[in-house]
Amino acid sequence: MKVIKQFFKTFLLGELLVGLALTWRHMFRKKVTIQYPDEKTPQSPRFRGLHALRRYPNGEERCIACKLCEAVCPALAITIEAAPREDGSRRTTKYEIDLFKCIFCGFCEESCPVDSIVETRVLEYHFENRGENIITKAKLLAIGDWQEPQLAKDRAQDRAYR
Ligand code: SF4
Ligand code: SF4
Repeated sequence: MKVIKQFFKTFLLGELLVGLALTWRHMFRKKVTIQYPDEKTPQSPRFRGLHALRRYPNGEERCIACKLCEAVCPALAITIEAAPREDGSRRTTKYEIDLFKCIFCGFCEESCPVDSIVETRVLEYHFENRGENIITKAKLLAIGDWQEPQLAKDRAQDRAYR
């Protein structure tokens, strides 16, 4: 019986017809694929992309060098050095994130008491030279300045759930 079944399966191309029927059933359905990068999928305001350091509206950096983000980072990707400034306030002298170590868990963002270290919606970036995976404080602040309008909007949208 098994042999006969196998014979019909082989010579009547049953599996091919089943496959074609499946294709036909999906032919006129709404497409779920998109033409990336011309088209993009929607992003959540909680999207965890490239990191940034934010400033207050007066230009002062938010980070108070409490090192909570460094302590909570499960990948040990954050390195911070801090010192008091002339005005007595404590600020970071070095703030680096190693993007090769980072697993984009968002713990740093969640732990920050002043909303300083955040993850942006930026997901399209690359490195061309050795060492560019280490993202410095200057770069993080520059990304923060660039992304601030979107970051402020996303935080306002998400405030009710925090
Ligand atoms: S997203 Fe997670 S792994 Fe990456 S730096 Fe922040 S805490 Fe560390
Ligand atoms: S980014 Fe936030 S959590 Fe990290 S050291 Fe600065 S203030 Fe503390």
